[in-house]
Formats: sequence, structure tokens, C-alpha cells
Amino acid sequence: MKEEMEIRSVTEEKPSHLWHAMHRHDPQVKQLVAVKGEGGWFTDEAGNCYLDGVSGLWCLNLGHGRQEIIEACAAQMGKLTYVPLTMSHQPALQLATKLSDLLGGNYQCFFSNSGSEANETAFKIARQYHKQTGNPEKYKIISRYRSYHGNTLGALSATAQANRRVKYDPAVPGFLHVYPPYAYRSIFNGTKEESDLKAAQLVEDTIRWEGEETVAAFIMEPFISGGGVLIPSMEYIERVQDICNRYNVVLIMDEVVSGFGRTGEMFGFMHANAVQPDIVTMAKGLTSGYLPLGATAVKDKIYQSFKSVGKDNHFRHVSTYGGHPAACAVALKNIEIIERENVVQRVHDLAKSHLNALQRLTKYDHVGEVRQIGFLVGLEMVEDKATKEPLADEKMVGILQNCKQRGLIIGRNGDTVPGQNNVIIIAPPLTSTEEDLMFLVETVTDVFNHLFGSNISESIPL
Ligand code: PLP
Repeated sequence: MKEEMEIRSVTEEKPSHLWHAMHRHDPQVKQLVAVKGEGGWFTDEAGNCYLDGVSGLWCLNLGHGRQEIIEACAAQMGKLTYVPLTMSHQPALQLATKLSDLLGGNYQCFFSNSGSEANETAFKIARQYHKQTGNPEKYKIISRYRSYHGNTLGALSATAQANRRVKYDPAVPGFLHVYPPYAYRSIFNGTKEESDLKAAQLVEDTIRWEGEETVAAFIMEPFISGGGVLIPSMEYIERVQDICNRYNVVLIMDEVVSGFGRTGEMFGFMHANAVQPDIVTMAKGLTSGYLPLGATAVKDKIYQSFKSVGKDNHFRHVSTYGGHPAACAVALKNIEIIERENVVQRVHDLAKSHLNALQRLTKYDHVGEVRQIGFLVGLEMVEDKATKEPLADEKMVGILQNCKQRGLIIGRNGDTVPGQNNVIIIAPPLTSTEEDLMFLVETVTDVFNHLFGSNISESIPL
């Protein structure tokens, strides 16, 4: 645990040739240079320590420096450096079986390098599947507004956030979007459950109105993460599964963020009943960020159509480094640790006993809603609870900066109004200690009290 500290001069003083991701290139803003990590914490060049409250980019699930993972990687590299997955190697074979088992059996796994690639792979499989099973007109892919599915052009076309897309349009043809389950700002009246079910009804209406014979797939995260942590009622997910079944639409579940315990189940869709997606895509927590790896797990029913002998129906798709032996060995060790240390149950329990305390922040006028499932939390920030006007950008920046000064990194996203990111994101490593979680909750509370202490509407003790 660390004391509150003053941030010493953060580095990158010399001209840098590094093009930072998602960075506004403001010469006044110096990016910190991280040099060392331990558990959920990292240190910068000036010796400042930070708790990583967003697990890097929601991926550092087991934290820094797990010796067992490092050794598994080195051992694999020493044994077999590389073969492409046009052939086989043991780590890929074992990992594919393990993932199929975790998903409930009977899935075939295709490996790539990232979440974007895992989704691109899923889109191509869904389209080819329909082409070779008598439905060649099925090509459209539907996703929800506010969702994020990756940065490559297909995955970006499924991504329905204007601010991420507008400079790169036109999108790939054949992608369309529907209204998400977002009860807090819903266009529908009624309870959250009613509002979410109406959003599910829009999925069915869209399929019918587009022509069911043209729709290949529906892609969804169980909980929209990159678009402001939108958590639907479980009936929404169950209803969408039912709709996809009825219209022969491949249900692609994007578990890139929610997979491997983040939400208190091994996979996010497992919170719902009787949901068994046709395709499940994974990355991030698959290796806990130790090496890049993406996976696209496909139900046997679909895989069968790629198999017959003598036909040109194989999947013409390859990625040089997809399923790299070292990455697969790392993933296997990562999953072994998750199971051995009961990480999923731990997330479930600590989310209730510790992170749940963030709910109390709704006492501030500027906190419109706290949405949480497991170690995935979004605080929707508003100017005013009644109008729900998104909190001004400079105030959002102020929250993040104040947390950073106290040694806590948190994030923000949302795109509530295109380009306006008014949702605070908190997603600590799944192995965060109880002290880490207490530090996180206390620091955020402290910052809110410091910035908004005079704007309190309810008498909830902090
Ligand atoms: N899907 C979801 C839900 C994501 O949040 C992300 C990345 O944040 C991706 C896909 C893309 O993953 P990657 O950055 O590994 O390409």
C-alpha cells in the first residue's frame, strides 16, 4: 500500500519518436514511462507508484510478474520457437481443448493475435458458414450502438461509436447497428427489465425488416464495456439468444473483456440461463496480457460445414503469429492459475464485499448511476441528476488527474454524446489484494469529496 504522494517529474523529457495510442499529442502532456510492475502496481521512471485500476487495457488480470507464467513462456520458446497453425503444436492443441471444455464442450478454436482479429475471424466464419449451408444471401452483421469490437476495418465497422469511426468512414458494407440495452438513458418507458426487453425486440424487428434471409450474424458483448459499462438484465441476453436461434443468425459473443473471470463468472454470458453462443471471441484475459493471443471458438455445428472431403469449403484464413506456441503456453498457465486460485469465485466475493462500496458514490449530485458486475465498474457522471447532461470534459479530466496524483490509474469512456466520454471506468486486476481494493475505493471517494464535496444530495455515509 502506498501513501498519498506528490508526483515527481514524470518523464519523456527528450523528443520521442513513439506514437502513443489514443493520445492527443499535446506537448504540455507528458506520458509517464512505466519501468517496473509488481502485482497490480507499477512504477514510473521517477519512482512514483500507481495502482493500475483498469488492468492496463482490461487485460492484466493476474497482475505483473507471475513467475510461473514467465517460466512457461521461456520453456516453450526453448523447446519449439514457432510453427504456423497450418500445422499443429501441443500448446495449441491443449489450449483448444481447454477452451472448449470451459465453454461447455464441442467448440473448435481458431487462434489469432488480438481481440480485433478474433472478431474479424468470427465475421468471416459466419459469412462462409451461411454460404456453404444453402443461405448465400446472408451477409449482414448486426451490432449495438455504443459497442466496441476492435480497430481493424471490419471490427471497427461493427464498433458503433461515432467518435472512433467518423474519420475512417466509409465503413465496410454489410454492418448495421441497433439500439443498445441502456435503461439509464433509454428511449423506452418502464422498468429496466422492460426497457431492456424492448431493446431485444428491436434486434428481432431489425432482422425481420432487413430480411432474415440477409442477416448472417449478431455480435454482442454480454456487458458493453468500451461504451460505458452497460449491463443489461439477463433476460435481454437470453432473449437475443432465442431470436438468433429462430432466425438462423449466428450469435457471436465478444468475451474479449468479460472472459476469464472479469465479471465473476468464467465468461460473461454464463450469468444468463440457457445461453450457448455459436461463436465466442476472446483475447486480453486469455493470457492476462503476458503475450498477444486471440481465440475464436466455434460451435461444432458450424465447424462441420467447413469439413467435408473433396469440397473447396475450408477456411481460407491464416495469421502468421496466430496461436504462437509461447502465447498458447502462457494462456494454458494463465488458465491453470485462474482455476487453482479460484480467481473467478474470488472476484465474485470481493466485488460484493469491497468494490460494491462504490455504489455509495451515488450520493454525489454528479454521479448519475454506478453500474457494476464483478470487477467491471462504470460510474456515469452527469452535470445534474435530473437533466442527465454528461459531466463536462474538463471535470472528467480533473477526476482522472486527481486520482493519478494520489497513485491510482482509472479510465473513462462512454460516447454518450458522440465524442463525449463521461463514464469513469474501474476494472482492477482480478488478483488485487483486499488492501488494493480498499485503496482504490478510498482514493476515488477522496477525490470525489475533494472535487464535489459540496454537491451531495443523499445522506449515504461514505
Ligand atoms: N472487443 C472488445 C469488447 C474490446 O474491448 C476490444 C479492445 O478493447 C476488442 C474487441 C479488440 O481487442 P484488441 O485491442 O486486442 O484488438
